[in-house]
Amino acid sequence: MLRELISEDEFLHAACHVPLQKVNWQLAQNKGIDVFIRRDDLVDEHLSGNKFYKLFYNLHAAKEIGCKTIVSFGGAHSNHLYALAAAGHRFGFNTVGVIRGERPAQLTATLRDANAWGMQLHFVSRSMYRDKLSSELQQCLRAAYGDFFEIPEGGANLYGLMGAKVLGWAIQEQLKADYTSVCLASGTGNTLAGLSLGLGSQHQDQSSISKAIGFSVLKGAGDLGKSIAMQQRSADKIVNNWCLISGYHGGGYGKKLTPALSKFNRHFELETQIPLDPVYTVKMCWGVSQLIQQQYWPIGSRLVLVHTGGLQGRRGYRY
Ligand SMILES: *Cc1c(COP(=O)(O)O)cnc(C)c1O
Repeated sequence: MLRELISEDEFLHAACHVPLQKVNWQLAQNKGIDVFIRRDDLVDEHLSGNKFYKLFYNLHAAKEIGCKTIVSFGGAHSNHLYALAAAGHRFGFNTVGVIRGERPAQLTATLRDANAWGMQLHFVSRSMYRDKLSSELQQCLRAAYGDFFEIPEGGANLYGLMGAKVLGWAIQEQLKADYTSVCLASGTGNTLAGLSLGLGSQHQDQSSISKAIGFSVLKGAGDLGKSIAMQQRSADKIVNNWCLISGYHGGGYGKKLTPALSKFNRHFELETQIPLDPVYTVKMCWGVSQLIQQQYWPIGSRLVLVHTGGLQGRRGYRY
C-alpha cells in the first residue's frame, strides 16, 4: 500500500512521542543512578531506530528533486538498507542496495526482506565496495538503474544529520533538559553528530560530563571524533557537548560477542525486559554498565539510553 511521505510536523510529533521508559536495573539503582531508555526501536515496525531519523530528510530530498530511484550501500545485515527498502516500498521509491561481497547462495534474512519489498540487490566485490564513489561503479549503476538519488552507507550525510538533530531536540523537549547524559551506540558517528546539535550546547552547568556520549562499536575508532566535528561543521556549527568512548566495541564491528558481552546481554535482557541488538545497542549498554560501576556519573545522575533499533539483525546472528 502506497502512502504519502509523512510531513515534517508529523515527523517532529512522532519524535516527541517515543516512549521513554524507566529501566529496572539493580546495578544502576545500587549506585544511585536513574536510567531511562528511549525506545526508538518501537517508532515503526520496519522503518525504525535511528534510521527512521536519518532517512526522513533524505526521502524528502529525493522526492523534491523528482528522483524515483534511491541507491545506497551496506553489508548483508545492514539495518540501513532494511529501513530504506521498507521506506521505498511504503512511499513508492525504487530502491537499489549495493551490497559488499559476492551474492551468497542463500540471502540473509535482512536481504530477503529488503528484496521482498522491491529493493534490487547489486552485489559488488569488496575492493569495488571500498571504492564505492569510483566513476567505474557510478557509471555501472547509472547504466543499470538510470538517474538516482544516492545515500551513503548508513545514511550518513547532511540529511541524516538533520534528522538525528530532531532526535536530540525531542529528548530535550521530553525531559525539559533534566538529564545528565544521553548515551548511544556510534558507527559512522552521524547520529551522535546530529543528536548533540539538537541537544544544544553545554552552558547551564560547569559539569565536565558530556551531554551526549557515543559508544563506538568499531575497533580502532581512529578518526571518528574528527569526522563528527567535520559533519557538524558542514551542518551549521560545532558543539562541544559530546564525547566518544571507544573501549567497548567487544572485538569489533559485527563480530561474534565475546563470552563476557554475551553474558551481559543475557542478564540485561532478562532483568530489564529490553531486547538489544548484537551489533550496536548491546555494546552501548555494556559500556554504560562499566562506567556506572566505575562511578563515572555522580549519585543522582539521570541517564537516557537511546535504543537505536537494529533488532531485525538478531535473526541469523549466532549468540
Ligand atoms: C546504524 C546504527 C547505529 C549507528 O549510527 P551512526 O549514525 O552510523 O553512528 C547505531 N545503532 C543501530 C541499531 C544502528 O542500526
